[in-house]
Amino acid sequence: MPDGGRVLFVDLSSGVSRTDEVDFEGLLGLGGKALGIRLLEKYLSPEVDALGPENVVAITPSLMAAYSLAGANRFGAFTKSPLTGIWLESYCGGTFGGIFTGTGWDAVVVSGAAKEPVHLHIEATGARLLPAADLWGKDTFAVEDELLERLGKRSAVLAIGVGGENLVNVASVMHERAHALGRGGLGAVFGSKKLKAMSATSPSGGRREAGEPFVRIRKEIADLAAKSPIGAGYRDFGTPAVTSLANELGAFPADFFTKGTAPHRSTLEAEGWSEWATREHLPCPPCPMRCRKRLTLTEGPEKGRVIHGAEYEALYSFGGSCLVEHARDIALLSERCNQLGVDTVSAGNLVAAAIKARELGPAGTVSPFAKDAPAAGDVKAIDELLQAIATRSTSLGDALAAGLDDALAALGIPEWSITSKRLDPAGYEPRRLKGMALSNALSVRGACHLRAAFYKPDLQGELEGLDDTTYVETYIDFEDRMMLLDSLTMCRFYRDFMNWERISIAATELHGASVAKADLQALSTETHTRIRHFSLACGLIPADDTVAERFFRVPTDRAPALDRAELERRVRIYWGKRGWGKDGLPR
Ligand code: SF4
Repeated sequence: MPDGGRVLFVDLSSGVSRTDEVDFEGLLGLGGKALGIRLLEKYLSPEVDALGPENVVAITPSLMAAYSLAGANRFGAFTKSPLTGIWLESYCGGTFGGIFTGTGWDAVVVSGAAKEPVHLHIEATGARLLPAADLWGKDTFAVEDELLERLGKRSAVLAIGVGGENLVNVASVMHERAHALGRGGLGAVFGSKKLKAMSATSPSGGRREAGEPFVRIRKEIADLAAKSPIGAGYRDFGTPAVTSLANELGAFPADFFTKGTAPHRSTLEAEGWSEWATREHLPCPPCPMRCRKRLTLTEGPEKGRVIHGAEYEALYSFGGSCLVEHARDIALLSERCNQLGVDTVSAGNLVAAAIKARELGPAGTVSPFAKDAPAAGDVKAIDELLQAIATRSTSLGDALAAGLDDALAALGIPEWSITSKRLDPAGYEPRRLKGMALSNALSVRGACHLRAAFYKPDLQGELEGLDDTTYVETYIDFEDRMMLLDSLTMCRFYRDFMNWERISIAATELHGASVAKADLQALSTETHTRIRHFSLACGLIPADDTVAERFFRVPTDRAPALDRAELERRVRIYWGKRGWGKDGLPR
């Protein structure tokens, strides 16, 4: 990417769009996360209401799609989160990234709010706003199918479901049934703008020739994805492949973070799924790893039905947190979330909070409406509650739609919080995997396993025995590389193949001049510092760099409670290494 770029700015309030020439200097040819924060700095005042018309959504294309790099067909979305009130970044696979890239825009920024539902369509020539009242109220699958019928070839669609329409704070934007822009309520931001769908059409992906070093690493990466044991694991089972290891290690959060192993783990583990479904690969092109799966049920009342996923994260939230017994039922609940357009992790944890309140009974501070919650593992009642959350159609559903911390307060059990910065974590037990505790505390979007992907060395026991400084330096190395993958807009599952040398070669190809590891590390620190400033201006305080109080006080059946002093020591070392003061504020 050159030092300047073309941003398509769309104001939904006026219906007018324009082209902005934007300075990209200092980005080293990268986009994605590094560009996303600069766009929010330019177009968004941090103090605005996340669900007000002044909030913006910035969408950045795949930088490497035109080079046919495996794992590169992704795009990013950036906004102020209605769930956390701070920076939200989200990334998504499928075909939208490649097609959007082909339109030639370096980013699209959407502001304002329409009076009536709209569909925003992007082409190389600009934006079109189309009426979408007929799509309002429809699920994400139906909207995508209808719009793909209306649009020409080489089109792709993003859509919200009723969750986004009803401003549910954990609503996602969905793509191709199982790809989600989730983890913080982007779907609600779309809903607040009456933006039911966004689509793109491009005649080609704008293929670009590359220099010799890049051609070499492109082949190396494709070979690793196709032939390495890591690639084979994802290809055989997708993300559920990790279920067995996480349970074995006591790192699979179960019974709403009271246990580290699911009592029914054998019905969850991916190795047994062939007993109840056939599996097809459904890759994001071009990806030899093909982690994404389409299942056809071969038994049970819905025999013959085709569903998408489920991912490991849904196995944790519904199988672990809500104690649903069978992976088939979890896959169906995950499919329901995707149709409604709500985040599968957060939705499962919201239901689990209600289940826990019901179990704790009417005594003490527990709210009376907890009696309406499902029993643990009751699939039908959980399914009904998911619909009530997305439509806010019952008192309980409406309370849960606010997000986990507000829901726990309404249920009368705020001490059961598991969040960092108001986001509930993905499926790795932070008392067993202390690297996850550090990740949850430091991740810029709230408790998140993917911003540093630090669960990987933790699961493999590679962090044991490290002194605090080395521990934090290792964390920063992971966080830097993941930040650069998010700025190359590459799939997280290519992290093991993208060492510093290959990241530098990819950046050099994009930048047109040599980019060294030190340049990239400096860009990562600068980007994290910019995001820090943004979130502080939104209301974040440095003391928010922690985990839920519960994790310091209560052990699981497989791990002791966290050592508060150890976590705080490591957080302070991190602040120092990012060049921030002892108070956690950038200097
Ligand atoms: S590994 Fe999975 S999510 Fe990543 S690009 Fe391949 S199919 Fe898509």
